[in-house]
Amino acid sequence: MATKKKAAKPAAKKSATKAAKSAVKKTAAKKSTSGKSTKYVYTWGAGKADGDGSMKALLGGKGANLAEMTKIGLPVPAGFTVTTEVCTYFYDNKRTYPAVLRAQMEAGIANMEKIMGYKFGDSEGFPLLVAVRSGARDSMPGMMDTVLNLGLNDKTVAALAKATDNERFAWDCYRRFIQMYGDVVLGVQKTPDEDHEPFEAVIEKYKHEAYGSDIVDSDLTAEDNKELVSRFKTLVKDRTGHGFPEDPWEQLEGAAGAVFGSWMNDRAIVYRRKYGIPAAWGTAVNVQAMVFGNTGPNSGSGVAFTRNPANGENVLYGEFLVNAQGEDVVAGVRTPDEVSGMAEALPAAFKELMKVRAILEKHFRDVQDVEFTIQDGKLYMLQTRNGKRTAAAALKFAADMVKEKLISWETAVMRNPADQLDQLLAPVFDINEAKKATVIAKGLPAGPGAASGKIYLNADRAVAAAEKGEKVLLVRVETSPEDLRGMIAAEGILTARGGVSSHAALVARQMGKVCVCGASAIEVDYDKKTVTAGDQVFKEGDFLSIDGTAGTVYGGELATEPSEIITGLINNKKASQKTEKFQNFVQLMEWCSKATRLGVRTNADTPEQVKNAVAFGAEGIGLTRTEHMFFEGDRIDAMREMILANTEEDRKKALKKLLPHQRKDFFGIFKALEGKPATIRLLDPPLHEFLPNTEESQADLAEKMGVPVEEISHRVHELHEQNPMLGHRGCRLAISYPEIAEMQAQAIFEAAAQCVKKGIPVKPEVMVPLVGYARELELQVNIIHRVAAEVKADKGVEFDYLVGTMIEVPRGALTADEIAKHAQFFSFGTNDLTQTALGVSRDDMGSFLSSYQENDIYPKNPFASLDTTGVGQLMEIAVEKGRSVKPDIKLGICGEHGGDPDSVTFCHKLGLAYVSCSPYRVPVARLAAAQAAIAESAGAKPAKAKKAAKKAAKKK
Ligand code: PEP
Ligand code: MG
Repeated sequence: MATKKKAAKPAAKKSATKAAKSAVKKTAAKKSTSGKSTKYVYTWGAGKADGDGSMKALLGGKGANLAEMTKIGLPVPAGFTVTTEVCTYFYDNKRTYPAVLRAQMEAGIANMEKIMGYKFGDSEGFPLLVAVRSGARDSMPGMMDTVLNLGLNDKTVAALAKATDNERFAWDCYRRFIQMYGDVVLGVQKTPDEDHEPFEAVIEKYKHEAYGSDIVDSDLTAEDNKELVSRFKTLVKDRTGHGFPEDPWEQLEGAAGAVFGSWMNDRAIVYRRKYGIPAAWGTAVNVQAMVFGNTGPNSGSGVAFTRNPANGENVLYGEFLVNAQGEDVVAGVRTPDEVSGMAEALPAAFKELMKVRAILEKHFRDVQDVEFTIQDGKLYMLQTRNGKRTAAAALKFAADMVKEKLISWETAVMRNPADQLDQLLAPVFDINEAKKATVIAKGLPAGPGAASGKIYLNADRAVAAAEKGEKVLLVRVETSPEDLRGMIAAEGILTARGGVSSHAALVARQMGKVCVCGASAIEVDYDKKTVTAGDQVFKEGDFLSIDGTAGTVYGGELATEPSEIITGLINNKKASQKTEKFQNFVQLMEWCSKATRLGVRTNADTPEQVKNAVAFGAEGIGLTRTEHMFFEGDRIDAMREMILANTEEDRKKALKKLLPHQRKDFFGIFKALEGKPATIRLLDPPLHEFLPNTEESQADLAEKMGVPVEEISHRVHELHEQNPMLGHRGCRLAISYPEIAEMQAQAIFEAAAQCVKKGIPVKPEVMVPLVGYARELELQVNIIHRVAAEVKADKGVEFDYLVGTMIEVPRGALTADEIAKHAQFFSFGTNDLTQTALGVSRDDMGSFLSSYQENDIYPKNPFASLDTTGVGQLMEIAVEKGRSVKPDIKLGICGEHGGDPDSVTFCHKLGLAYVSCSPYRVPVARLAAAQAAIAESAGAKPAKAKKAAKKAAKKK
């Protein structure tokens, strides 16, 4: 049941499935003895089953659960599963089968015949018809092939008509079978020149001839179906050169071959890539006795979830059709009714279904997604699997099931997918509106949520529009710090270039802004003030909408709603806090704290960001990028003056201007942290991000500095770097100009001294960036300690502080033992560590990322999810070497990976003390950290990491 109408398959498919079909025959005929002892066929039926629900690797999810449902006494039509091992054999042996398979399948059919009381291929009595379905270990809905009503031919159809006294039904089944088998097994499919599926075209043509107008398929009479069967057979003959196979065994072998063959179809390959399902798993094939929902008004078919998978409500949720086979429900030919309507249409069967619902949930202890058929009033279960769900539904299911004592709180934590949690925090589009809207481009999902607004292509105009009360989307080719005000004013940010750790993405996530970056299909023309996507042109002031969770760009305006979790946590809105969603979320976070070993800090540059992060449960700051503190207002000018200074004297003058800003900022941050630790990184400004690059900004700065514009442009030219991400940045800047580190250390410690005087607890941790040589760190550490001593003496106060370094270039990781001598902590800067380990610019991978993913070179974007094999190895080396010198050295991570669930799991295993991520990712990291801890205590414990982790946790 439940096959979706599928897209046309590649031409190669036809010959592949044919080859598979004949291979079944050949190997079966040879009856070699190889593999004799292996059991390839697992039967179920009449309360007994060879397999059970735990055998998903061998039987696939569907087969394992059919066995399980049979065992717990649910009404499941008899059948058997051909194991995934056969799929592996099939591909390892040039699409042939183990010799013993045919005999085992014959035994499987015999078992079904015994239980059902019908014979396969019977042309006298009721013939046993079967459904042949795929079943991978993880469900891959609609990706592989299915054939229903198999076993019908010109003789058995007559027997079926006689046995049921229902000619229309029998010929309806036969017509459906030829159509499905012809498509899936024989490859009779739409060619590029055709507008419609060939079988559908035949039906349409016939309906027109016979009735002159459209009628629904269920109104076709027995005679109509007979005529269609005849026309279908002609179509098959014309397209394949062969008649439609009459022998049920030939049909069965062909269908099994097609299902195995479909494991390697394009759709399945793409799906596996997206969801990380290994090709080596293979699919099983399930052969199950058909039951019929299309025998009349006392029959029907449906699909349902035991609870609502969209919002989590505890009600049966699904669709149902009277007098229909399963594919009718999902194919969209007839509009199905809500499953609740069954209570009236088929009351006894509905009552039974509700009983089954309770049994299933109690048994599987999770929400189930089921398929069922009612044949002449009797309910049959055809499938059950854990239901896919939205983040909102996952949260409610888990919370409710703990209350119902179906699952433990640990299981509830595991049931909330960490990579979906940000869905709960983001504003969302109204689902119905998004369905109607046109997608104009796709980019990288860089800042989750939904935003809709008038587009502006420049920060000033964006700010001006926002000040007038307009909802604004800032659209740029790529962003720079000059755009920051525009980014703050905008609902969302869209860029044509840049990756997930580009400036736009980083800043957007930190601010909790919706962001799609690297949408290369759009063309941004600053002169014309237009955004072009294909043949659509949007002018400034026109509406666009972006979904930063999916990376989608829509033309026009779409309505959004804020999340009550945000309004409850950040804005303290009482009404939001009373909602069930809010309370379930808070409960989930409490459970996470109970389970976790890994701390979660935040990357924050302002007191407001700190407050948000603390509201989300951050335990401190893991990274303050001090250069970001100069993005606001006129501060960038002082920063630029400092960078452009020609002499030490000029630089000191500029630094003097920066000092009070910095001190004030640090004080604000310390205050907001209320004694939680703050890792403050010394300046690391990649020059291209900070130099005034346009004539306009150079003129502006020249005027403010009172120097000729030529002087500025000359200096900008002098400072220009070919490769600024590998240029004069990080500690290199302060090695050349120690006065920069001096000023920053002074600002940090004077702010700390102010706090101490006011009774505010402080824990500053000063961090030196981009260290590759121990000596680099040593020089900086000497300055920091000297300044700390001077401030303490000057202000007459005591405070504790730490000095450490980022590990973000491979040499730093490889010489971590030497570096550790001067560091009290390491924080992995995995943005730069990825950039330098892979030799890939973090800002320029958009042009090849997708081809690298399609070719299975990058399993995921390495700037979003840690390359644990390569970059991870450097981290392991650094951890080991660092600890060899300083066993108690504090270890953390502050690259963007700190908010990625898989990377968090890796950091947990590595025994880091904390991960640090942008404020709005804090809940995601907390959940991922808790899940890593729960999974570890449930499974094998990596002894080494655990020991180290215990120590680290103590230290934390
Ligand atoms: C890093 O490189 O991982 C890091 C956190 O620093 P930045 O992104 O500021 O270079
Ligand atoms: Mg860095």
